[in-house]
Amino acid sequence: MELSSRVKAMAESVTLKLNSKAMELTESGKQVYNLTAGQLPFRPPQDFIDSIRLELDFLKSYQYSPISGFVDLRKKIIHHIEETRGINFQNLALSGTEFDCVISNGAKHSISNILGAIINPGDEVIIISPYWISYPEMIKFCRAIPVVVKSSIFDVFTPSMNDIKKAISERTKAIIINSPNNPAGIHYSDEWMNDFAELLEEFPDIGVISDEIYFEVCYYDPKPTYFYQKKPELLKRTIIVDGISKAFASTGLRIGYCVGPKNICKGIENLQGQLTSSANSLIQRAMMNYNFAGSSQFLTPVKNHLRDNATIIREKFKDRDLMKCWYQPVSAFYFMIDFTQTPVFKKYQKDKNDSADYSVNICEDMLNQLGVVIVPGTDFGMVNSARISLVLHKEVFSEALTKIVDFLQG
Ligand code: PMP
Repeated sequence: MELSSRVKAMAESVTLKLNSKAMELTESGKQVYNLTAGQLPFRPPQDFIDSIRLELDFLKSYQYSPISGFVDLRKKIIHHIEETRGINFQNLALSGTEFDCVISNGAKHSISNILGAIINPGDEVIIISPYWISYPEMIKFCRAIPVVVKSSIFDVFTPSMNDIKKAISERTKAIIINSPNNPAGIHYSDEWMNDFAELLEEFPDIGVISDEIYFEVCYYDPKPTYFYQKKPELLKRTIIVDGISKAFASTGLRIGYCVGPKNICKGIENLQGQLTSSANSLIQRAMMNYNFAGSSQFLTPVKNHLRDNATIIREKFKDRDLMKCWYQPVSAFYFMIDFTQTPVFKKYQKDKNDSADYSVNICEDMLNQLGVVIVPGTDFGMVNSARISLVLHKEVFSEALTKIVDFLQG
């Protein structure tokens, strides 16, 4: 049997290849520093675990929920989004747009559902690089075209409004923004969100998918803000995505959700009903009984940990005179290294005009020589770069960083 052309065209993550090499090295007894993790090495909040335990004895925990999720939980999520983002869907309902929520098997599922529900073949969807690995592949799977707007270390990974405007065409259906951002570890400024809101007003037919999965994971002020807070009317064409993977340190429980206009949620519900059905009932029921506000308390030590590791990056980079490729990460749990700003890059680049991408070669050398695994920028649509994850234990993280900066020094 042959694979479909859509699956054959799907890029395979280079990270997986590096990870299996890392596993081989570990098995052969070599010390390996794995800085690829996209999840927190912490147990979920105890109250949440207790809440799951309490639901284990109920038959309903083992049966289907309504396709979009339990009604009370959806209401609770909408209320939570209103409280944490400082918005009010009720006011907009009065002017004719009603809102709803669909609970899915993780935020990734929510995003692929949204794209499946709103995208037609040939549509264009704007994404910002470095982007989260799955966006372009999901867009292409819908037979649509990802249009990439670049950002770089020089603008602290904040795309220029002008570049976004230039990328808009008659075929633009939606823009995906991800703030706080994976892989950059920053969120866009309040001023940027203001400008973005103004830009959107110029293009009334464009929708926005706002991937806010790292909303709670911000360890330096100011906190993330959003374009729709400036102009609430924009909520009528915005779908907010969030979930429990990061906020409750529960990647494996697979619960994510989206909140947006009711007609779009209805389409997503149909799609989800036919393709995958409702999300995990046990965890939905546990969420109904859990006070979401508890997660911000739970995240305090997590944020302290991320702040400490972010400081380690600055100190090590400063020690080795690498401040040209340093910026302050403030949210999510990642940092991007721009190899082009480091001395070691000369060993890879053939001449000054060579613009080839050596991310994978550099990361492979780091793995073989240092036992350090990081994710090549190739996967994020950014050449000659790599992502490091800040979640590792402080002492081990510090050791790994010493090796990395020595390597970068060439
Ligand atoms: N969006 C971004 C930017 C992410 O980094 C991730 C997970 N790494 C997701 C969405 C998906 O999260 P989930 O585990 O809820 O599917």
